[in-house]
Amino acid sequence: MTQHLTSREAIELEEKYGAHNYHPLPVVLAKGKAAKVWDVDGKEYFDFLSAYSAVNQGHCHPKIAAALIDQAQTLTLTSRAFYSNTLGVYEKYVTEYFGYDKVLPMNSGAEGDETALKLCRKWAYLKKGVPENQAKIIVCEGNFHGRTITIISMSTDPDSYSGFGPFTPGFVTIPYNDIPALENALKDPTVAGFLVEPIQGEAGVFVPDEGYLKKAFDLCKANNVLFIADEVQTGIARTGKLIACEHEGVRPDMLILGKALSGGFYPVSAVLADDEIMLCIKPGEHGSTFGGNPMAARVAIAALDVVKDEKLAENAERLGKIFRAEMTSFKHDMIELVRGKGLLNAIVIRPKNGKEAWDVCLKMAENGLLAKPTHGHIIRFAPPLVITEAELYEAIEIIKKSIIAFD
Ligand code: PLP
Repeated sequence: MTQHLTSREAIELEEKYGAHNYHPLPVVLAKGKAAKVWDVDGKEYFDFLSAYSAVNQGHCHPKIAAALIDQAQTLTLTSRAFYSNTLGVYEKYVTEYFGYDKVLPMNSGAEGDETALKLCRKWAYLKKGVPENQAKIIVCEGNFHGRTITIISMSTDPDSYSGFGPFTPGFVTIPYNDIPALENALKDPTVAGFLVEPIQGEAGVFVPDEGYLKKAFDLCKANNVLFIADEVQTGIARTGKLIACEHEGVRPDMLILGKALSGGFYPVSAVLADDEIMLCIKPGEHGSTFGGNPMAARVAIAALDVVKDEKLAENAERLGKIFRAEMTSFKHDMIELVRGKGLLNAIVIRPKNGKEAWDVCLKMAENGLLAKPTHGHIIRFAPPLVITEAELYEAIEIIKKSIIAFD
């Protein structure tokens, strides 16, 4: 039974007993349904963060909840020491869904990235002939792939890496959206992979130039280098296609998924690849106690079913265009720039009278819409993809009203 707490009590408990590794907006949520959430006082909000794009299918989707409850009462965890009657079914489903030979199931997005990095290195030694311990992986400035030591070793954000060294070697950093830089970095024969986000989400929804991904992919192919797409945030219909690479007809050699792979019910991540790459890892060389467990398998199938059944990619594409058109035509001196794809969008905020993105987010919360600044001056707008057109227009009015309040 959930304890009944006031906002203040809930915030004080987190402050006192939890590590201070986040700086949340002062809103205490107690309930969610589809595109909306409610706080402990029953105040209603549009959720324009969707748990960093994990809740694409909307809060508490009944079909995913049903799968979770049914499996929770049947069999939750076996570990991979034994087979289960759910994992193979999920593996067949997810590989056919995304069009790959095989999947390696994990839990968090960061674990998905770690898995892809390990697979890439193994492939380099077993298939490409890179001398042992010399494989390099190219990454981009401004990247965000998670919080493990190896992943922050690739980060260019001091908040992510400062004070956490020594770092994992083997990464080459180039500017994002820079084809000549990639071309140059690929000259090194020990390069095994290029890890890239098709849109840099945490960096502030930075959309690269059209054609960047395709050119980068072709260059990787010409140099026998694996093109690894981190679609943990951009995948699962968020940008208006099932995966964002589809916008440019790119099929990554390795595809990393997480977040909405479970519709926000359960940590489920995955790396998809063909046999040539995936079979480089042998029994005992990688794994996780929870990865591919029966709950995760059932939840992920239900979550992916919902994406297809409810045409969430099409909805994201259509409503995203409306959002950007509305916000671009709304002329206000606090709006410096509107950018994004599908329903992954951002507004770059120009401070006014000392008021910044954080203040805009507080005002929007007051008016019934939740979003969070990223990098101080950028606000990401990423509602659940089940949001309706009428709801979107209502939300847009809240955003405009909140910005006008600073006049
Ligand atoms: N990769 C990308 C592109 C992300 O945006 C994130 C999280 O925001 C991650 C990886 C890490 O996922 P998780 O927080 O589940 O470890």
